[in-house]
Amino acid sequence: MTAEHVWSQCLSFIEDNIQPQAFKTWFEPIQPVKLQDNALSIQVPSKFFYEWLEEHYVKLLRVALRKELGENAKLVYVIKMENADKSSSFTEQIPSKQKSLFAPQEIDIPVVSKDPSLKNPFIIPGIRNIKIDAQLNASYSFENFLEGESNRLARSAGQAVANKPGGTSFNPLLIFGNVGLGKTHLLHAIGVDIKEKHADKTILYISAEKFTQQYIESVKNNTRNDFIHFYQLIDVLLIDDVQFLAGKSGTQDVFFHIFNHLHQNGKQVVLTSDKAPVDMQDIEQRLLSRFKWGLSAELSPPDYHTRVAILKNKLYLDGMTMPEEIIDYIAQNIKSNIRELEGAIISLIAQASFNKKEINLELAQQVVDKFVKNTKKEVSIEYIQKMVADYFEMDLDTLQSKTRKRHIVQARQLAMYFAKRFTKASLASIGSQIGKRDHATVLHACRTVENLADTDKQFKKYIEDLSKKFS
Ligand code: ADP
Ligand code: MG
Repeated sequence: MTAEHVWSQCLSFIEDNIQPQAFKTWFEPIQPVKLQDNALSIQVPSKFFYEWLEEHYVKLLRVALRKELGENAKLVYVIKMENADKSSSFTEQIPSKQKSLFAPQEIDIPVVSKDPSLKNPFIIPGIRNIKIDAQLNASYSFENFLEGESNRLARSAGQAVANKPGGTSFNPLLIFGNVGLGKTHLLHAIGVDIKEKHADKTILYISAEKFTQQYIESVKNNTRNDFIHFYQLIDVLLIDDVQFLAGKSGTQDVFFHIFNHLHQNGKQVVLTSDKAPVDMQDIEQRLLSRFKWGLSAELSPPDYHTRVAILKNKLYLDGMTMPEEIIDYIAQNIKSNIRELEGAIISLIAQASFNKKEINLELAQQVVDKFVKNTKKEVSIEYIQKMVADYFEMDLDTLQSKTRKRHIVQARQLAMYFAKRFTKASLASIGSQIGKRDHATVLHACRTVENLADTDKQFKKYIEDLSKKFS
């Protein structure tokens, strides 16, 4: 009889006796380690996990184990945990503490502090009971979050969640979209609304970055359990920018357990991310699959009418007015980022008041010009290739192909030249992205383009036309 065999027998018994979801969460991650003297050692991913098993499933485990190993069956947990910095992992062995259920054991379980109030910065010490400051910004309300086609689903899902936290199928609710499209605002709005409607709920807004810092601190200070227990107190957990967890497996692990705990207890979790779950990299699969349990709602760039409405609302809140024509001009020219839209208005007002100029269309043009240029993101190699291919009316595959046809070679060389000029990518990286060429080919392409620009008028025109698209 091996540990594997015994454990797989136990698993089939357990699987028949609990919910599939619970089985997946709490039993699939377990690994049998060894079988010795009637004691089965199983490896679990965290102390929290072990505590959870002991609290909720120890009876089931006992029945299962006794069926296999008889009345003297024993269970030993091996906790294998990755450290936050990944440089080391440590292992700890703990026998099941249910002395009445399993044979007596000598080793003691470390006591978990039940009073996290001293350790967590968000806790406001109170006289009778502890209170957690929700970290919400009241001005980020639903009222100030203007509705449009681009945000309708996310906004109404947010409202549904706020009306019935933990009581809808939108759990977790994941809001995703590019920077500046209102993720943080909407997340706060949900919290602000819940605070108003459900005064008894403990709400917490936190960025994934801060969460990570806190976690790392807790590992350093040996207060990991306090950290976890603190988060278990929360009824509505609002986590901003979860893409920040990418590659941080220790934090992902602890978040996974906190998430499971909250979810199983009917608590609400709302997450935001700058990517859709399918595009998130370096986030563990089991966590990604959790993200998909509820609803993923996208925030898209707002359409023109929504942009105008947002600008007017912003002016109204600031007690300002501005000619329609100028609002229209800004809304026409800044399209993909609401933060930039607001930024343009603010700098326009500032320009006008500092320089004692009138706000007119000309000033608006100057500001928007500067604004759009200053905040323009680096173009991607992908975008460059697409623009060059479009310009020469060929498709991307043709541009990247191995063909030696002159006009295609030239298009490809232009793409390489622009990639060198407008991105920070290395020659090697440019080459590998544009038709899998090496760095020498890219260097050669850049030189050829520069030479042709000096000698060939038509070619020079190509460069000028295309440059406008990237600068
Ligand atoms: P993200 O977190 O997606 O980067 P933010 O939530 O910080 O974006 O939003 C950027 C700015 O745009 C904030 O000042 C926010 O109030 C504003 N904003 C975003 N969406 C809306 C909206 N629908 N109505 C009004 N203001 C909005
Ligand atoms: Mg944000």
